[in-house]
Amino acid sequence: MAVETRIRAGAPTRFNKFDGECGGVSSVHLRCTVTFEHASRRLRGGGAAVPDRVKPELQQLPWTSDEVRPLRDPSILLRPDDTLRAVRDMLAAMPRLRGVDLSPANWDGEHTPRVVAAWLQEQGSRWLSGARRPCRFEVEARLQVKQVFHEPRAVLQRCLEVAMQTVAPGSDEECGICLDEFRNGGKSGPVNLPCSHAFHRHCMLTWLDRGTNCPSCRYDLTGMVAAPWTSRTSNDTTTARTRRRWRG
Ligand SMILES: [Zn+2]
Ligand SMILES: [Zn+2]
Repeated sequence: MAVETRIRAGAPTRFNKFDGECGGVSSVHLRCTVTFEHASRRLRGGGAAVPDRVKPELQQLPWTSDEVRPLRDPSILLRPDDTLRAVRDMLAAMPRLRGVDLSPANWDGEHTPRVVAAWLQEQGSRWLSGARRPCRFEVEARLQVKQVFHEPRAVLQRCLEVAMQTVAPGSDEECGICLDEFRNGGKSGPVNLPCSHAFHRHCMLTWLDRGTNCPSCRYDLTGMVAAPWTSRTSNDTTTARTRRRWRG
């Protein structure tokens, strides 16, 4: 992956439960306020992440979104895996979080989806064993998302996609950097650059921390890729309201 993502809760998650004020339909409301940081590890950058100049429409900070889902199948609150999945779906459906890798491994400290799911289960099981008047479960979370674009990795990926790959992993040709034959294995397979010169992928990755050219012919590898936040356009609005069915 050319984009590393780190997420952490910017403040304690807040919870509210309203009984019998919901017009007959129980629902879950998730309001999420997100601040973003964007940086890149550039070619010849020695692996250091430097802040990016981000497109103006992506600099709306902090950015808030509301997700509302009718709770048509309340028994979902008794199934931990389903509740967690539903919470993750609600976060992933928020326009500015689309494309952000929300995998559990990317969270530092509190894993907010799990905290929200645990509260919903606790409140839900109490509610389901009681009078069961329509109920609104409200959650307010603040997240800080840091995304770092790894240009050397993205360049290698781009080479694999656009350049003719002529060297097989078992080839007796030599890597132009470490001079070992590709068939001897090593840490990774070969990659052909657009100039057709071939190197081990791990050798090339290390090289691109210091350089921007093909080690054999000086072919210029700059400008092949750009971080998504410096090139993409966005139709997002500051606050998006969506209503979807809670999937049971
Ligand atoms: Zn090599
Ligand atoms: Zn070359």
